[in-house]
Amino acid sequence: MIFLITGAAGFLGTALANALAREGHQVRGLDDLSAGNPDGLSPAVHFVRGDVNDRPRLWSLLQGVDVVYHLAARVSVQESILYPREYNAVNVGGTVSLMEAMRDVGIRRVVLASSGAVYGEQQVQPLHEEMRPRPRSPYAVSKLAAEHYICTIGDLWGIESAILRIFNAYGPRQNLPPTHPPVVPHFLRQTLKGGSLVVHGDGRQTRDYVYVDDVVRALVAAATAPNLNGQVINVGSGRETSVRDLAAAVAQATGLTPDVIYSPRASAGVARMRADLTRARALLGYAPRVDLVDGLRLTLKRDPRFSR
Ligand code: NAD
Repeated sequence: MIFLITGAAGFLGTALANALAREGHQVRGLDDLSAGNPDGLSPAVHFVRGDVNDRPRLWSLLQGVDVVYHLAARVSVQESILYPREYNAVNVGGTVSLMEAMRDVGIRRVVLASSGAVYGEQQVQPLHEEMRPRPRSPYAVSKLAAEHYICTIGDLWGIESAILRIFNAYGPRQNLPPTHPPVVPHFLRQTLKGGSLVVHGDGRQTRDYVYVDDVVRALVAAATAPNLNGQVINVGSGRETSVRDLAAAVAQATGLTPDVIYSPRASAGVARMRADLTRARALLGYAPRVDLVDGLRLTLKRDPRFSR
């Protein structure tokens, strides 16, 4: 098959592109490199630097493509609070540009990497796809808007769409920006440096951490699974881990014992997150395989930034 992946030089995009190329598929990747780095891509992946809003570029990249994976996005919740216009332009505008270009070229299927962040604060766990989303940041709003655009434009023009709501993915090569880095690689780096781990709030807030290889398996399945049109599907580990327990898992995986400092005034975000995986199991045959400590060990082993 022939695939186009937007955001291909990012954390999830690179893992997905390399997995599809390993399976012998033809893979094209687009990324503006605002956050990504193409060095991790297999030479078998045809990489083009460009903006997802650049429709002429999309028209040529889309020729002959069977399935598009749309991953290009700005991905920081905190940054989105400061720059909502930018998040709207890239995450929403970029999605609309891509859908228009797909319509023009006659593409048949698109898979969107959406986010568990769209659920926001909910009274009931685990989170299932029929719950009313309560986005709490411009980032979450932008992902929810992208979901609606993908389904609506897809329906209008006969483009099959599948929405994967990915929870807290982690693994090798995850982007580690200087401000507001994702918690898993940040905790690993701090621990290896002998630094302390600063936990926001009381550390009892939970998240559903899912290893990148599990996410890639779900994404790959979404390219060919039947009966996906318009479906929203959670992709997580199905387990709830508090930030306190994450710090303990990092200690176990590294064999080190970092100091943990609590910052009670810092916002801890939503109280709980755990993905209900019933639909992912039924529609994608998905079952997470990698538990947290093993995933952290794999991350340490496979990411040169953590070599000791
Ligand atoms: P990432 O930042 O590593 O990847 C996103 C990529 O998109 C980057 O390489 C960036 O350069 C590229 N990009 C940004 N703006 C672009 C533009 N205008 N044109 C072309 N490329 C552009 O992040 P990631 O963690 O790999 O996330 C990939 C996708 O998965 C995103 O859509 C994100 O919202 C979604 N997602 C990720 C997670 C997670 O935990 N990693 C969870 C839920 C959803």
